[in-house]
Amino acid sequence: MEEKQVIELLRKHGLKVTGQRLRVLSIIADRPDEHLTAEEIYDLARADLPEIGLATIYRTVQVLLDLRVINKVTFDDGFTRYELNDGESASGHRHHHAICVGCGKIYSLETDLLDILEQQVMKNIGFEVTDHEVKLYGFCAECRKKNRRAKTDGTEI
Ligand SMILES: [Zn+2]
Ligand SMILES: [Zn+2]
Ligand SMILES: [Zn+2]
Repeated sequence: MEEKQVIELLRKHGLKVTGQRLRVLSIIADRPDEHLTAEEIYDLARADLPEIGLATIYRTVQVLLDLRVINKVTFDDGFTRYELNDGESASGHRHHHAICVGCGKIYSLETDLLDILEQQVMKNIGFEVTDHEVKLYGFCAECRKKNRRAKTDGTEI
């Protein structure tokens, strides 16, 4: 994401554009597949802003969360991770995640595909789905390849 877009994003949410906010938001926006923790954001931010402290990162992340510029995600490793709130998708709902139980890699899936379920829930119990958090567990292409190789080798996985 270009700096201009990040500045626009901050302004759109009524946030004053500061170097720290710009940096933190750019770091998150530029790595849609990484789902960074506050510590990881801190390590990346320090490269340009050696003065920045972890407390500032936490504060900045909280401001961005409160304004729903970013979302919080947790996977099974107990860390809180952050990603851009891509509310510009058709439904405005959060994207799904596919988590590889072999190597731990996390994939973001762009399409919602829950429209039919959402309509059913509305029809059946009059419940309006405004968001959801879907996690799919399984094996990524690479791990499947490795598993297949292990099988043909006759070695145990
Ligand atoms: Zn949806
Ligand atoms: Zn994998
Ligand atoms: Zn994601």
